Amino acid sequence: MLRLHEYQHHRPRSLEEALALLAAHEGNVLPIAGGTDLMPNMKHRLFTPGHLVALKGLPELRGTGVQGGELIIGAAETLSGLSRDPVVRAYAPSLATAAALVAGPQLRNMGTIGGNICLDTRCTYYNQTFFWRQALGFCLKKDGDICHVTRVGKKCVAAHSADTPPVLMTLGAAVDLVSTAGEERTVPLAGFFLADGIWNSVRGPDELLVRVRIPLPAAGARASYRKMRQRNAIDFPLLSVAAAARFAEGDIVEEIAIVVSALGARPRVVTGLDAIAVGERLTDLVIDALAERAFQQCHPLENIIVDAEWRRAMVPVHVKRALQDMAA
Ligand SMILES: Cc1cc2nc3c(=O)[nH]c(=O)nc-3n(C[C@H](O)[C@H](O)[C@H](O)COP(=O)(O)OP(=O)(O)OC[C@H]3O[C@@H](n4cnc5c(N)ncnc54)[C@H](O)[C@@H]3O)c2cc1C
Ligand code: SF4
Repeated sequence: MLRLHEYQHHRPRSLEEALALLAAHEGNVLPIAGGTDLMPNMKHRLFTPGHLVALKGLPELRGTGVQGGELIIGAAETLSGLSRDPVVRAYAPSLATAAALVAGPQLRNMGTIGGNICLDTRCTYYNQTFFWRQALGFCLKKDGDICHVTRVGKKCVAAHSADTPPVLMTLGAAVDLVSTAGEERTVPLAGFFLADGIWNSVRGPDELLVRVRIPLPAAGARASYRKMRQRNAIDFPLLSVAAAARFAEGDIVEEIAIVVSALGARPRVVTGLDAIAVGERLTDLVIDALAERAFQQCHPLENIIVDAEWRRAMVPVHVKRALQDMAA
């Protein structure tokens, strides 16, 4: 049986109180939202904070609505709530789809969009018990000095494994962060993630993610999300594809974006799509060319248990499916 270490659980009632608690226990504290990722990680001794600050009781992190041309989602909104929310389904249906594909029902009832965006990266050599990791001599990301995947360098390539961020990137979303010093900033999701899986985002440890902002879709906008996993009932993605496009009259592509994830430490934006698709309809020929483009740029690593070559071979398959969903 895996037991939790001893810690103090704080339940603040306002954002101000939460930030004060994070500041008071700096270096020995973590925020907790649904706890669906943090709790298993604590049982594995990947994190052993003396204090947890609960976010779900903070009114500032709750609610969804449309304001000033944006869909605003509080960071502590649950994934199951978002997948059913009529406003989210109307203005960001691909986000509702992705939220509905995270884990299983109980985890979606507890898990939040903020926790999903701040999700730790995952790796075969990291998401293990303390004893398992100790037997292997640990690794760069936690307690050790070598990466068992690359065997060289000082960069961790653990997989970005969250479902909603690739979708949010294709929708041009941004997140509002606030620090314990009271400083607020808005960061576009496109610039939020970093290539090092040890800490794979620009969010500081002293910053809370307060809300997500998604621009309302322009006329002719469509988006989709496809996910490959071992068991559709519960698993993390082995590969995920988010796509979005804006179509003019006659289904002519005016803008297009594809983000592929679960490969390395951050979601990959596929480049060079405009030359293939803009001014064209999403015909089979165009879709094949876009899928080939993604295949050329995506290189899964041996960071999760399923064969990397097979995952790579599946990239064009799932890109095609995501694009066909939009073409339909
Ligand atoms: C069996 C299983 C299957 C899973 N499958 C999937 C899957 O298919 N896809 C997927 O994406 N995830 C999956 N997960 C992971 C997890 O359930 C979800 O990612 C969930 O959205 C995490 O949200 P949470 O609120 O529970 O985060 P928590 O566990 O509470 O927190 C996760 C991390 O984010 C930090 N954090 C949380 N909220 C904030 C905030 N507002 N500001 C700053 N930091 C914050 C925490 O400190 C912690 O480091 C799975 C988990 C399990 C156990
Ligand atoms: S990619 Fe390397 S450093 Fe990162 S968690 Fe896996 S083994 Fe550790």
